[in-house]
Amino acid sequence: MWRVQLHKINYDEREYNAVKEVLDSGWLAISEKTQAFESSFSQFLGNDSKCLAVSNGTAALHMALLALGIGGKSSQTDEVITPALTFIADQNTVEFAGAKNVLADITSINDDWSIDPDDIEAKITPNTKAVMIVHYAGYACDIERISAICKKHNLFLIEDCAHTPGADYCLADGTRQPLGTFGDIAAFSFFANKNIAVGEGGMVVTRNTQLFEKLRLLRSHGMSAASFDRYKGRASSYDVAQPGLNYRINEISSALGLVQLSKLDEANEKRKKLVEYYCKRLDGVKDVLIPYKNFTRGKSNYHIMPILLSEKIDRAALMESMKNAGVQTSIHYPAIQNFSAYKNKVNSTPRAEYVCAHQLTLPLYPQMTIEEVDIVCDVLIGALANAPADAAPKG
Ligand SMILES: *Cc1c(COP(=O)(O)O)cnc(C)c1O
Repeated sequence: MWRVQLHKINYDEREYNAVKEVLDSGWLAISEKTQAFESSFSQFLGNDSKCLAVSNGTAALHMALLALGIGGKSSQTDEVITPALTFIADQNTVEFAGAKNVLADITSINDDWSIDPDDIEAKITPNTKAVMIVHYAGYACDIERISAICKKHNLFLIEDCAHTPGADYCLADGTRQPLGTFGDIAAFSFFANKNIAVGEGGMVVTRNTQLFEKLRLLRSHGMSAASFDRYKGRASSYDVAQPGLNYRINEISSALGLVQLSKLDEANEKRKKLVEYYCKRLDGVKDVLIPYKNFTRGKSNYHIMPILLSEKIDRAALMESMKNAGVQTSIHYPAIQNFSAYKNKVNSTPRAEYVCAHQLTLPLYPQMTIEEVDIVCDVLIGALANAPADAAPKG
């Protein structure tokens, strides 16, 4: 149906074989593949990262808030500063933890869409307990400064790393450090359209031993022994040390994750070439702005290809006309302020709201060809040329 899809999974016989191996083993529940995935991911991140594979990225975020003791029965007032330009899982998990979202704006409309450290600092109150950031599209936010702000104000730092596998931050002294190793806890997502895609899956990461133990218990009912240990005869009973949930991953997802992790560098390198070609093709195109053109904070993993349309372009009509030409596009993200559940419940963030109203995401995936980038750009440029010149700005 599509000439160019927004995203395609990057699978080959390695994924098929990995799944077959799990099915042949007769054991689906969390055990050895998961342990292997976790230790490979720890090695991949380095910096003494301790990793727990979980059901999805939202579960990882929820566990992070619970492990840090944010919100809940004891407090109706805990505030978490969250990004205004992100997927709604950030705000939803803060709500479910029983805390209040305070949105921080992006740094600039024209280039740096990452959460603004100055706005974070401006939003801190005596009730602020944590800052949650997202590294949008795989571009590191100013995590060194944000870490310093959190330290200064005694706040927890949670990194939403759903976009980041393979991306890093370049420290002031020149060393590179993977995203997900700065905060108290980081949450990765391996949803079907992420750089590591397993269908549903996630990873919660910490460098703190005590937090790690809390997270481990939260993942599986607070139980001291897993069913695999009992199967292996390592335990016959169990204690429940604290209330917990079932946020476990399964062996099929972990086996897929191991393969996807081994392919990540090559896949991200392909994404980089495609993004560079997009930038070349769209350079100077009227009504199109590409963010992060002056990005120097680290290495991106090019999770998505976002652009900003000028105000006079009717985005919905443009998307429709690109769809009719066989090109699938998306929006990352609609403004939180416009969702029914959050209307009048969160503060306004003018820069992010502007970007949310005019942003467009173009197709990007590792096996995409240069010819396909050309199709997308030709269709986009054609649709822009045919767009009504003086259409009223719309959201
Ligand atoms: C995908 C995503 C999530 C949620 O991850 P799931 O695995 O789908 O639960 C959270 N935050 C951001 C920024 C995401 O892109």
